Amino acid sequence: MRMIIRDVRIWDGTGAEPFAGEVLVDGNRIVSVAPRPARLPDAGARVIEGGGATLMPGLVEGHAHLTFCGMPRSTDLGEIPPEEHTLATMHNARVLLDAGFTSAFSAASAKLRLDVVIRNEIEAGRIPGPRLRAASPEITVTGGLGDENRLHATRSSFGLIADGPDEIARTVRLCAREGVDTIKINVSGDGPIRAAKSDMTVMREAEARMACEVAHDFGCRVAAHARASSSVLRSLACGVDVVYHCELADARALDALEAARDHVFVGPAIAPIHNALHDPGPQGVPEDPARIADLERCLASAQRAYGEMRRRGIRVVIGGDYGFVTTPQGTNARDIALFVKLFGYSPSEALQCATRIGGELMELDVGLVKPGFLADLIIVDGDPLEDVRILADTSRLRLIMQDGRIHKDTLAARQA
Ligand SMILES: [Zn+2]
Repeated sequence: MRMIIRDVRIWDGTGAEPFAGEVLVDGNRIVSVAPRPARLPDAGARVIEGGGATLMPGLVEGHAHLTFCGMPRSTDLGEIPPEEHTLATMHNARVLLDAGFTSAFSAASAKLRLDVVIRNEIEAGRIPGPRLRAASPEITVTGGLGDENRLHATRSSFGLIADGPDEIARTVRLCAREGVDTIKINVSGDGPIRAAKSDMTVMREAEARMACEVAHDFGCRVAAHARASSSVLRSLACGVDVVYHCELADARALDALEAARDHVFVGPAIAPIHNALHDPGPQGVPEDPARIADLERCLASAQRAYGEMRRRGIRVVIGGDYGFVTTPQGTNARDIALFVKLFGYSPSEALQCATRIGGELMELDVGLVKPGFLADLIIVDGDPLEDVRILADTSRLRLIMQDGRIHKDTLAARQA
């Protein structure tokens, strides 16, 4: 099926200035992008009139957790039975596509097969959702983030516990056998309370190295949870492909990230920290002063680190850790405004993090409005370069197209 989208302002994802023009889609690919006054032949094509709205690439969530369903405690994710959890994940996939996210790179699945089955159903066209790179649960050492056990009680969350290179190798192979695209490892700790804190690097070098070697043997990529500066350095030294958080990165870690910028991606996943302080919703700001002080420290560190990463041309993706109470699924596009507000990105730069760079992370022809690329497009009412916040308002998304199929269309379409 051929479709011509006319009368749109095209922002193509490269960072070039938008231009008035039209786009021809044939099947699931973009065939032509023509600036005005060129007119594409419309014989036999369905014509979509854009009414002067902005056409841009579909958004890419760079640190998705489709299996996270807004629950207060991480052990809640262990307690939901697989049947309900599958349905909740399917629902979240739709919510994300409704929000304009045509692709998502998962940063962990709470249960091993959830991301995999949802990815397969989306790929088969049986359920709506973003193109998904499916991840493993968070592979973690005893006492690390994702180990919620107590001596007297077994409690699961989103972690798979493995200690020593041999157990790590077996766990990575198990996840690869079950079909994941990405292996997630927790190299640093998290937060101020648990045994493994944010500034601690608790996965041994031999363990992280084994995870990367085995994952790469199976054609999987590796994403690391790495807050501490030493955990960023260890992740890079061991061959990790995506490094998440990194807010405590010091000059040495930033140098190492810069040296790896052609093959490594970084994602701050800043929303839970920002929102807990500045946009907490009904639950309000945390009461514990120590918790507030820690969040403020994290936010300030992240602002320093990501301002520097922007300056050094490190590839940073938007999104991350949506699916908690303060970060509802479907509000992920608010991250674009956080990049502008917190890290000093221009609107065009932040939008590139949400499209072109996310597309590079997906290793798919997505994230650009370009002939030959997959037809993953959105049409937005207004100018996102003038105010990136409009992308977080789903009522402004007039059209969502994925793989050449229209998922949402509130423009008046007519047959030519
Ligand atoms: Zn995460």
